[in-house]
Amino acid sequence: MNKDWLEKDFYASLGVSKDATADEIKKKYRKLARELHPDKNPDNPKAEEKFKEVSEAYDILSDTDKRREYDEARTMFASGGFGPGGYGAGAPGGGSYNVNMDDLFGGQGGDFSDLLGGIFNRGRGGARSPQPRRGEDLETELNLSFDDALDGVTVPLNLRTEAACDSCRGTGAKPGTMPHTCPSCGGQGQVARNAGGFAFPETCPTCRGRGQLIDDPCTACRGAGRAMKTRTVQARIPAGVKDDARIRLAGKGTPGERGGPAGDLMVNIHVAAHPLFTRKGDNITFTAPVTFSEAALGSQITVPTPRDGNVTLKIPAGTTTGKTFRVKGKGIKRKDGKQGDVLVTVEVAVPQKLSDEARVALETYAGLTEDHDPRRDLMTLAGQ
Ligand SMILES: [Zn+2]
Ligand SMILES: [Zn+2]
Repeated sequence: MNKDWLEKDFYASLGVSKDATADEIKKKYRKLARELHPDKNPDNPKAEEKFKEVSEAYDILSDTDKRREYDEARTMFASGGFGPGGYGAGAPGGGSYNVNMDDLFGGQGGDFSDLLGGIFNRGRGGARSPQPRRGEDLETELNLSFDDALDGVTVPLNLRTEAACDSCRGTGAKPGTMPHTCPSCGGQGQVARNAGGFAFPETCPTCRGRGQLIDDPCTACRGAGRAMKTRTVQARIPAGVKDDARIRLAGKGTPGERGGPAGDLMVNIHVAAHPLFTRKGDNITFTAPVTFSEAALGSQITVPTPRDGNVTLKIPAGTTTGKTFRVKGKGIKRKDGKQGDVLVTVEVAVPQKLSDEARVALETYAGLTEDHDPRRDLMTLAGQ
């Protein structure tokens, strides 16, 4: 008997009536489980919470014995003065939590806990483990090349995590033997403890909540049923992922226990720097050197773009150093199908060595452009 039972309306959780057939319950559960599954609702703690609630409700209502116990427990509490709505948040009159159990049961606290104990132990067949448990979330680091980050990539990640032990297939018992139901708690993992006339459930001290006892522990896992294993997970990294991004891969964490869902895997992305390209949002930037004559006379220069090879860029006559040109649609691919641009900044490269002819030609050029003083306004602007 679980104290939760008095507070939780499993029928309401599944959205079925109290006299729903097993088939109706199963159908409703499958529909809800599909909708609420964590794989379908990544990063949605509300859906996750509801998923757990629905799973718990189904666990009870799908088991004929448990359902009968649950119904009986709730009926008993309802008839004990809690009104037809039962014991819980929906009870008419609200505030009926502060009921004195001795008043209710005429001071016969002992009888009361016996009553609960009776419900508790009845109809419990084979060993049933306690609640399913969701697997733990894991975290891992992933280094990506600049190109892989641009294009997206599926990479195998080797994870060392806990999983069911191979030797005992997770039972914890030596192969060939089986764990047996804990006699103290009947496999429930909890026992009723009488406190102030009210029976509270507490973790069974004999089996420490496992519901089962193992006489001959598995030597491989020393009875834990779990072992460290290397698993390989295929991680799909979307195109355009940024450096320092954190990607959640739902259900790729530690496998759950007793049918619980797997945890999630958080992947911390580190993108290697590129020797030429720099990323700015959805755009790629880099600097292309041009000669003075290309900038002054205008020219067509060939520049690279990531992945897509080279493009020809038209530099108009009179282009100043530092001017940026846009190559449309060659940048980062986005989820919506659009693509960023490549931004090419030109920078005039000054030759470090000149041939005699080139020097003469430049001196001729200097003589011909004496009238052009680029610093004419400098002193004025400085206020001198
Ligand atoms: Zn084992
Ligand atoms: Zn026990």
